[in-house]
Amino acid sequence: MGLLRDKSGRLHIDTPLMAESLMDKALLEKTETDQIFRPLPELNVVKLGGQSIIDRGAKVVLPLIDEIVAARAKHQILIVTGGGTRSRHAYAIALDLGMSTGVLAKLGTSISEQNALMISTLLSPHGGVKIGHDEVVQLPAYLALGIIPVMHAMPPYGLWEEPAETGRIPPHRTDAGAFLTAEVLGARRCILVKDEKGLFTADPKKDRKAQFIPEIEINDLLAMDLADLAVERTMLQALSRARSVKEVLIVNGLEKGNLTRALAGENPGTRIYKK
Ligand code: ADP
Ligand code: MG
Repeated sequence: MGLLRDKSGRLHIDTPLMAESLMDKALLEKTETDQIFRPLPELNVVKLGGQSIIDRGAKVVLPLIDEIVAARAKHQILIVTGGGTRSRHAYAIALDLGMSTGVLAKLGTSISEQNALMISTLLSPHGGVKIGHDEVVQLPAYLALGIIPVMHAMPPYGLWEEPAETGRIPPHRTDAGAFLTAEVLGARRCILVKDEKGLFTADPKKDRKAQFIPEIEINDLLAMDLADLAVERTMLQALSRARSVKEVLIVNGLEKGNLTRALAGENPGTRIYKK
């Protein structure tokens, strides 16, 4: 590709995007493609919830470790970790001190990383290795070696997290991070391990009449505009725009066997899919 100088004297490289602002809607449309390259189409990204799972300690975490170790022989798995109660505590203090969303996002990151350290340590006798975001590109080699990679699930917006629509809680937290990891890797499934059967019409811990939703199309779910959700809204938006990953599963990690079933391709909880 050669260099060109336009009439105004600006220098360009002769490419299809030459002299474009990259904001032009018609140009953006042209960058669509039917098939995105998927580096790890067999990978399952499994998020262990912070508040819902890890904070409950050994009673809940250890049986899940056993399930992960047993499933590793058959399935490619990347474990990612949420933050949980300690994140909420840090957020509360930061909010009181007048901190911005970006500072809160940094706090959330270090707490989900603490959880990644503990989960990878528990998995270490079975090949568990804590990895950082830079190592995502090395995952194929790690998986080939039989490693069980464990990464914290906060997406790396950090101080650059965009302001939330309402309030100051970082809108992209560990559900969104788990999903975006799955999307960039072209993973098979994103499985969120939490402490309820799946998604309900309202928080089942607060509303006894909440109805269970076994399966729902993402745009139908967004249209319901539920007042409370088991997953971050930004994760739902990302799924609605996803090019590779077409479904997210929410499963109850308090019941033995659900994660194994989800890895086997079943839906033991809620399946949110994109048509
Ligand atoms: P995690 O620790 O995995 O990030 P969260 O505690 O953030 O999980 O979110 C899961 C919780 O969301 C559930 O335990 C449930 O009490 C609550 N929740 C709120 N709204 C809903 C809903 N519509 N359906 C299911 N759970 C909901
Ligand atoms: Mg959460």
